Parts: sequence; structure tokens; C-alpha cells
Amino acid sequence: MTGIGGAVVTAPFVFFYRTVETLAASVPVTVERLTKPHEAWRELVSPEAFDVLFNEQTEPPGSSALNQEYRDGTYLCAACYLPLFESRHKYDSGTGWPSFTQPIAGHIGTKKDYQLIILRTEYHCARCGGHQGHVFNDGPQPRKERWCNNGLALKFVPSMESLPPLRS
Ligand SMILES: [Zn+2]
Repeated sequence: MTGIGGAVVTAPFVFFYRTVETLAASVPVTVERLTKPHEAWRELVSPEAFDVLFNEQTEPPGSSALNQEYRDGTYLCAACYLPLFESRHKYDSGTGWPSFTQPIAGHIGTKKDYQLIILRTEYHCARCGGHQGHVFNDGPQPRKERWCNNGLALKFVPSMESLPPLRS
């Protein structure tokens, strides 16, 4: 620090610099990454889901039917069908997006995202790379993780149904 002027200039960057360290990020990815180009998924998902998955768009809060989904089951990546979350880790965060306390270990990749100036931690399907949402550290105890997911990027399969085969 050389004086007050320097402190004023750097303060906003310090204030907004927040990373989210998750337990999931310390688990190595356990699935093989597909080399399929993102554009090739367009014919397999809806246009709205494609925008979320491969253009990193965010659906409007409260728009997903999965907000009201409380049955036992598994949440798959809407593109490649890799299981990403289990219903026992879903909770109502009040944000309007399906939220989970943790993903299925090894099935999620993360990266830092500066889209809103504020540093956020983006996460995606480790297999196809499809964008799912952002993870925050204001979730419930004990992990304090809030995995805030776009419903359009997920496919729910109730536990009484068998999981569909992975798509490649
Ligand atoms: Zn996927």
C-alpha cells in the first residue's frame, strides 16, 4: 500500500473477490469427457434447454416445474443423461431455482465465472460440459453449499422408473 488513493482503487476488487470452495470440487471427475461439439446437442434438447446448457443462459426464477418436485428420484443432465443430483439432497432455497446441498461426487466440473462482475463459481456436467448453474456458500449446514441449478438443464427420473441410458 502506498497511500489512501491506492486503497480506494483496489477496495472494490477485494470486496467482490469471493470464491466458493466446495467439497465436490475436491473430488476428481470420475466420468470420461465427451468430445461431442456443443452444437451437436441442439437436436437432442429443446431450444430453451440448449440456451442454458451450451450458451450459459439462466432461466427466469420460478419458471421450472422442478421447483415443486419432491418425489424420490435422480436428476440427470438434460443433454447426456449423466446423473448429477439425488432427490435427498434437494431443498427449497426460496430462490426460484431447483437447489441442492451437494451433487453426485465426480460428476460435476467447476470454473470461475465473471459474467456478473462478481466472481461466481459456475458448474457443469463433467461428461458433456453442459452448463448447469452456480454454487454458493450460503446453503444449509453442514456443508453450507447451495447448488443453484437451472431446471431446464435437468431431467428428473422418479425412483420407480429405471434410468435411461447415457446419450453420446
Ligand atoms: Zn451432460
